[in-house]
Amino acid sequence: MLTAISRRALGHCLRTWSRLYRILFLVAMGACSRESTEPVTRSFASMGTQASVTVAAEYRDRLPELTEAVHEVLRRLEDQLSTYRSDSEISRLAAAAGRFPISVSADTRRILELARRYGELSRGAFDVTVAPLVQLWGFGRRARHSVPDPEVIEDRLRLVNFRSIELQGGSAFLPAGMSLDLGGIGKGFAVDKAVEVLRRSGVRAAMVDLGGNIRVLGQAEPGTSWTIGIRNPFESERVLGVIKLPDGMAVATSGNYERFVEIGGRRYSHIIDPRTGYPVEGMAGVTVVSPDATGSDALSTALFVLGVESGFEVLKDVPGTEALFIRDRDPVELWLTPGMATLFTAVPEYEPAIRVLSAEARK
Ligand code: AMP
Ligand code: MG
Repeated sequence: MLTAISRRALGHCLRTWSRLYRILFLVAMGACSRESTEPVTRSFASMGTQASVTVAAEYRDRLPELTEAVHEVLRRLEDQLSTYRSDSEISRLAAAAGRFPISVSADTRRILELARRYGELSRGAFDVTVAPLVQLWGFGRRARHSVPDPEVIEDRLRLVNFRSIELQGGSAFLPAGMSLDLGGIGKGFAVDKAVEVLRRSGVRAAMVDLGGNIRVLGQAEPGTSWTIGIRNPFESERVLGVIKLPDGMAVATSGNYERFVEIGGRRYSHIIDPRTGYPVEGMAGVTVVSPDATGSDALSTALFVLGVESGFEVLKDVPGTEALFIRDRDPVELWLTPGMATLFTAVPEYEPAIRVLSAEARK
């Protein structure tokens, strides 16, 4: 009897302890992760790609609310800027081209101003009016089976000129036949808007990533910069090295491994040279670090068109902007502006591939 009682008591005691132990264990785990200095991330789909918001450990508890605020901004921008939505301001502008102006939101007006500015800076290599050619080559909704007819390319080229975008007060106008494609600048613009939201919410250390368009605030952990891996454009699962991003800076990559069309067994890059009407050849990838994400997005596309020499030349008019160029050549060569050389660290295997562009040539 005694034994039975003590056995029961012992069993009860053990069950109580094991429950208590489990609770203590969970509390301890919670305390550990709470004390962890590692940043935390939330991802979601937006603007046809993967988006993520990462915040430093001190903002961990606010991550759900901050992510929702960013998601909301991206949703609003997509409604205004998407060419996949017939009721977006950008689609309505094209539908009214040559007939009447469309009243546009402050954000749409701003992105069009910036698009014109990067058009000028890049001497026309970046041109958001390239849409009729993007469609022609089949990077839009319709794939094609043969290379377009040179005469048709010529015709479409006549519709490409960012200087023809008219902005007056709160409205915008496009000449007949013209249309816009913000695929080379829209995500960067959206990242800047997202970072603005985080800043206004009092966040001082965070990272926003929208399909590889990244901007950071502060540091990942006290004393540790945010670092971004750069993939090998020829073998996207391999990393060439990492870029350390200082507070407030942005990075973007334009590369032919991301999107292309195959016509007659040949791969064509999704970036069009607005001067010729043909997809760019000779470049494999360009990564740009810039003081804002709109700049890194637009300029990585522009430098992909311009190539190493002309691209380096254009950068002398854009302070604080650095680039890493990879030509479409084997073995891989990494061409870095001098400023990029201070931010980029190659993995040992690719160290011999580094070439630093001469600062003299930049003057
Ligand atoms: P990204 O991936 O940022 O380099 O942008 C590439 C996208 O920009 C393409 O998929 C097109 O939608 C658009 N695009 C293509 N060529 C140009 C160009 N020369 N200037 C501006 N946008 C372009
Ligand atoms: Mg771009």
